[in-house]
Amino acid sequence: MATSANPAEIIHEGIPASPGIAIGPVHVNARGFVAPEVFEIAPSEIPHEQGRFHLAVDLTKRQLAELRHRLEHLAGDNQGDIFEAHIMMLEDPAVLDRVNHAIAERCQNAEYAFYAVMQTFLEGMRRIPDPYLRERTVDIEDVSQRVLKNFQADSDPRPLGLDESHILIAYDLTPSDTACMDRRQLLGFATEQGSVNSHTAILARAFGIPAVVGLSCSVINITTLSAAILDGYAGKLILHPSLGTLEHYRKLHAEKEIIRSGLDANREAPTETLDGHSITVSANMELLEEIELVTHSGAKGIGLYRTEFLLLDGSEIPSEAVQAEAYTRIARAVAPYSVIIRTLDAGGDKLPIEPLTEPEPNPFLGWRGIRVSLARPAMFREQLRAILRASAAGKVSVMFPLVSGLSEIERARDLIRRCMDELDCEGIPFDHQLPVGIMIEVPSAAVCADLLAPQVDFFSIGTNDLIQYTVAADRVNPHVADLYRPTHPAVIRLIKRTIDAGIDHGIRTGICGEMAGDIRLTPLLIGLGAKELSVGPQQVSRVGQAIRSLNHAECAAMATAVLRQTRSYDILNLALDIARNSYGYLLD
Ligand code: PEP
Ligand code: MG
Repeated sequence: MATSANPAEIIHEGIPASPGIAIGPVHVNARGFVAPEVFEIAPSEIPHEQGRFHLAVDLTKRQLAELRHRLEHLAGDNQGDIFEAHIMMLEDPAVLDRVNHAIAERCQNAEYAFYAVMQTFLEGMRRIPDPYLRERTVDIEDVSQRVLKNFQADSDPRPLGLDESHILIAYDLTPSDTACMDRRQLLGFATEQGSVNSHTAILARAFGIPAVVGLSCSVINITTLSAAILDGYAGKLILHPSLGTLEHYRKLHAEKEIIRSGLDANREAPTETLDGHSITVSANMELLEEIELVTHSGAKGIGLYRTEFLLLDGSEIPSEAVQAEAYTRIARAVAPYSVIIRTLDAGGDKLPIEPLTEPEPNPFLGWRGIRVSLARPAMFREQLRAILRASAAGKVSVMFPLVSGLSEIERARDLIRRCMDELDCEGIPFDHQLPVGIMIEVPSAAVCADLLAPQVDFFSIGTNDLIQYTVAADRVNPHVADLYRPTHPAVIRLIKRTIDAGIDHGIRTGICGEMAGDIRLTPLLIGLGAKELSVGPQQVSRVGQAIRSLNHAECAAMATAVLRQTRSYDILNLALDIARNSYGYLLD
């Protein structure tokens, strides 16, 4: 690992988002523009690098002066003032001194030192309340990018180490960033923003990438190539770890690996409690490339296939034929088990279906889930037809997201009926008994579960959204993370009410939110009567082992006691007591 001197160990606290230990150099990717390559230089090279910086700045100033001249010639006096402001930025002694100092202090190449200093300025400006000043960040980004380009003229590229395995440090990552990462080089990641229930964190857990979010420090203060340990269990980023710390984490990592291989060896064992209650453990999936992870996980099918990436990650929504092919591939891969395909859940924290003319004031309460699909019937029809076509190849169910009441189900079922008639006329085979289910993730649907149950074949409780809407705390907003409590009595009562309504009407109820994969809560969920838990592929064998270690009658008694509790903390502890006694070694 790269260590230029022997700096003291620094521990940055964050929120654990995906378990695992990563040990390696960090690569910092702050926001704004693409980070240049970074490499260490010998102390004797410092003057050379400082010279390269000044050459790049001089070249940029000459270009800006030329631009100002051209603009004034074309558009008249004063029109080039903006470039004058840019030139002044590059003459500011504060900037020049800090970059020179950074090159010497960090012993890193000039372009990276310049980039790091400019990121510090930019972060400071982005936090200024005055919107006018905040907008000036665009100018700084513009000038910075220009200077960075001008380094290239004389650059002497060296191997940087980014082809090597590294821990990514970023201000924030979108789910697409996470999906597109080159996972061969990625040991783990830590972000300043983010939350445990974001899709970025869900994807990290699906791929088994250790992750920490909500870092307590500003990531721009972290230097690329610093040696580090990422602790995805406790939510820590440790920079310049001491030998003792390294030793501790290597041992911890080895211990966790032993547990993991034991779980892997047992992954196909029946998921039945000690007193003979069978619980289905299925997997959640969002990217087609997860199919293999899912089929090797021991999961009994896919309890939630999120179709947002398939439909919205490209430049246009894939055709019915392309979708049908993808769904068919999944149905075949999970046979003899089934796949529940959730129709598009655009909006909210997910990808938008189309650019909005104006930002929504409350995206989570706005145009998302089934609301979008019902408003775009041509797109919805294509997705439903594709799902129906795949149902000829395996066991397929369809599920609607963000249902808030009966009329949405009626409209969606009506469209399914019309799609079935069309396919019949066209002679295209499909499953005429295609099971139709809904996600219970809006409190109105949970409260009225008894009214909705007769209209559907199954429920799947989406706790990620159900929690946020019940306690009115945005699932991705770190400022309200403390209020986002899976064991809030109101959430537990809504889960119980939904499961009971399902039992009364003879339909099955699964749980597919992140709560289902949290083994601290397995005793509570099965005690409340859940019969199916759909979890990230990496959690399947762990949840299965937890179920095999539990006594259902004990869990049911605890769940009854929980319904009388007033505090989320006490509810969590009641579940945790059983979890600790039954499989303490599995808890992180
Ligand atoms: C949920 O809300 O719990 C869920 C599974 O759906 P998503 O996380 O995709 O919103
Ligand atoms: Mg949801």
